[in-house]
Amino acid sequence: MSFKFMEHLISPDEFKKEFPLPEDIKRIKEIRDREIADIFEGKSDKFILIIGPCSADNEEAVCDYIHRLARVYEEVKDRVFIIPRIYTNKPRTTGEGYKGMLHQPDPEQKPNLIEGLRAIRHMHLRALQDTKLTAADEMLYPDNTEYFSDVLSYIAVGARSVENQQHRLVASGLDVPVGMKNPTGGDLSVMVNSITAAQSGHTFIYGNDEVHSSGNPYAHAILRGATNKNGINIPNYHFEDMIRTYNMIAAKDIKNPSVIIDTNHSNSGKKYIEQIRIAKEVIHNKKISPELHSFVKGLMIESYIEPGSQKVGEHVYGKSITDPCLGWKDTEDLIKYIAETV
Ligand code: PEP
Ligand code: MN
Repeated sequence: MSFKFMEHLISPDEFKKEFPLPEDIKRIKEIRDREIADIFEGKSDKFILIIGPCSADNEEAVCDYIHRLARVYEEVKDRVFIIPRIYTNKPRTTGEGYKGMLHQPDPEQKPNLIEGLRAIRHMHLRALQDTKLTAADEMLYPDNTEYFSDVLSYIAVGARSVENQQHRLVASGLDVPVGMKNPTGGDLSVMVNSITAAQSGHTFIYGNDEVHSSGNPYAHAILRGATNKNGINIPNYHFEDMIRTYNMIAAKDIKNPSVIIDTNHSNSGKKYIEQIRIAKEVIHNKKISPELHSFVKGLMIESYIEPGSQKVGEHVYGKSITDPCLGWKDTEDLIKYIAETV
């Protein structure tokens, strides 16, 4: 073996004991999880917004951002259900660059994953205590899911992971909705197969145990656009794309058929400002189509305090160091527009 041993990892149970979740937060998470399940089951017609920075790189700025979200949420919560993105694991196209707070609690320092786990937990508990908004993250490393299962209300499987068997099996045992993104190449059948796999029960190895999952009835689709073999962006948020996805899912034995549209990534071609237009178009299509009306459950939007992005080391407060994001003013206006229109 050519691995160098670094440090022994604390178990998820020990870790959760080290930073316990207050009882009132446990109760809030139960209530929010029930409300999200009601939306996926069609019992509530609130519109989900999974919204926040591409990567949660800095506790101060992330908590400031979620505070702002919580203030707007007070005004729109009868129509919109807000789930902040606290994304701490970043998949990298070539493996290079910032891999998220798990790897680098300080983006300018060397990886320290044990400190990364603690930094993430600290950030979640602070955000939760201040705002009561349970968050979303990507399941990039399925083995790590248990460390944060008590604070996350939504989990996405990314475009680079969605064909992976372990991601699908772990998703099948989670009790919160798991969004399966279409793969970067755009093949919608990979995403639909992933939903089928996650909605079924499986026996597999998870952590140090052999386990059996009962299947996750809230596994659903996320359309994030694609890139073709010539490297050209192919968006998939248009009416026809959503209808095609609806028909593919309707043809299978899939419970709670649902889609979330990711307005950034290969839908915007990372032109972050286009997210506003894309969000408005999706809402229009949801309103005019009986099929899409119940199928489109919400949007995933990349947004932070300052618009755009910067390089690691530039130190603009609240500006993304990964994908470019909408700034706060545009975000606030867009959330209010969505609440009035949807
Ligand atoms: C993201 O949500 O920031 C992300 C990396 O998404 P995707 O897997 O769609 O590229
Ligand atoms: Mn991103």
